[in-house]
Amino acid sequence: MRIDIITCLPRLLESPFSDSILKRAQQKGIVSVQLHDLRDYATSKHRSTDDYAFGGGAGMVMMIEPIDNCITQLKSERAYDEVIYMSPDGELFTQPIANELSLKENLIMLCGHYKGVDERVREHLITRELSIGDYVLSGGELAAAVISDAIIRLIPGVLSDETSALTDSFQDGLVAPPVYTRPAEYKGWKVPDVLLSGHEAKIAQWKQEKSLERTQNRRPGLLRD
Ligand code: SAH
Repeated sequence: MRIDIITCLPRLLESPFSDSILKRAQQKGIVSVQLHDLRDYATSKHRSTDDYAFGGGAGMVMMIEPIDNCITQLKSERAYDEVIYMSPDGELFTQPIANELSLKENLIMLCGHYKGVDERVREHLITRELSIGDYVLSGGELAAAVISDAIIRLIPGVLSDETSALTDSFQDGLVAPPVYTRPAEYKGWKVPDVLLSGHEAKIAQWKQEKSLERTQNRRPGLLRD
């Protein structure tokens, strides 16, 4: 998979992809994440990528031309499955969408800043808009990092134990059961006996029950869905 992220602040995105699982996924050649600095696609004298809003009002607006130049350049090199704009009013990003996007070959993610992008970008250049929640960030970079992380870890070969992603919350419509590690007793706080029993069927049943119980208590909406 290839993910091209278009941003006016590429430095904000360098660290999320240069550690741990996301770094290894790139080293293994499973995914390639390319950052594109919008200023490199600006044509104005000062290489600006934003301007005042028509009609007035506070806040700058990201110009269409550098964004169009960048997307056009990328599209001339390969076909893209989606051109995604990070937007607080977009479709709410969820695990099913992460699953769907993890099967794609090439994705473009566009990060907004300031008041957002010129509406014509959204009308003509974007195929999908995603939000990571009902709150407003100062830029789309952290949202793009969140979405990329959730997608990349689902690609086969990225996690060392491939079944691991399948047992995470939301994959089967339930949240994950509690987990424990050594020591079996700490300050008198004990790990449930069943987990130490070595009885696989009982352990599986316990996990299933705990998942269900947690989902009922914390995310009852998942059960209704
Ligand atoms: N004026 C806009 C908010 C702009 S915030 C409005 O009121 O809707 C600046 C940029 O941050 C946006 O263009 C978007 O790319 C990003 N952003 C902010 N909140 C986000 C969220 N919840 N999910 C995804 N991207 C978000």
